[in-house]
Amino acid sequence: EPVLSLSEVGKGFHGTTVLDGISLDVPQGQFVALAGPSGAGKSTLLRLVNGMHLPDSGTVRTLGENPAACSRGRLRALRARVGFVFQQFGLVGRLTALENVLMGSLASLRLPRYGVMSYPRAVRARAVEQLDRVGLAELRFQRCDTLSGGQQQRVAVARTLLQGPELILADEPVASLDPAASVLVLDTLKRISAEDGISVVCSLHQIELALATADRVVALRGGRLVLDEPAADLTADR
Ligand code: ADP
Ligand code: ADP
Repeated sequence: EPVLSLSEVGKGFHGTTVLDGISLDVPQGQFVALAGPSGAGKSTLLRLVNGMHLPDSGTVRTLGENPAACSRGRLRALRARVGFVFQQFGLVGRLTALENVLMGSLASLRLPRYGVMSYPRAVRARAVEQLDRVGLAELRFQRCDTLSGGQQQRVAVARTLLQGPELILADEPVASLDPAASVLVLDTLKRISAEDGISVVCSLHQIELALATADRVVALRGGRLVLDEPAADLTADR
């Protein structure tokens, strides 16, 4: 079974159709760029995948579950298996990089934690390991509000990784970064996706970044899926 499967999915808000007849299967380990102009429905699609929105028509299957048919508890369990990376990072600026990563641990989802030392040693070690994978182990005691945007987004990626996701959804993760930082963040996500066999669906409004990073490019326009091609085929055409 694919990691993610949308079948004829439709979604609207207040009578306006945002997504119409979207079908998409994503196999394990694939990095999919979701391209399209602002307002095309990219965020809405990502939110359908983890059950933040429910479809009006069609079916979503994520990691073998149908979010529309899940109980609250089951949906929470499903979301714990799906990492989400946001444009605005979602970090706590006055906390350190390591503290922010630790907030991605299951321990902190169950009970509030105060300070790094309240986490088990093994969890702390795994958090540092994830920071190391995004190239930021040396900056772990630095407050996040003193880091660059690109560094902050890599902290957010490390936090998501600590969760042990089987699928990562990234909603315009580089939209507020400069070009060099954008490439670094996307290359980091791509490398980790390949190493761990994690599927990634990443919305990007810049097609150049999508072509440079993704295995496959899917584009939305006016609520329809208008392109679905291997990135290599698209770059060969240019
Ligand atoms: P994108 O991520 O491609 O920029 P979005 O999925 O955010 O697109 O939005 C697609 C359209 O749906 C926009 O017109 C937006 O205003 C509308 N929309 C998104 N979410 C909601 C919502 N919760 N309620 C009403 N309209 C929404
Ligand atoms: P659903 O539960 O049907 O998936 P939401 O819970 O996302 O829908 O929608 C809640 C409300 O939030 C919407 O009805 C809308 O008023 C508002 N909203 C959220 N995002 C947007 C947006 N991008 N544009 C317009 N309205 C929005």
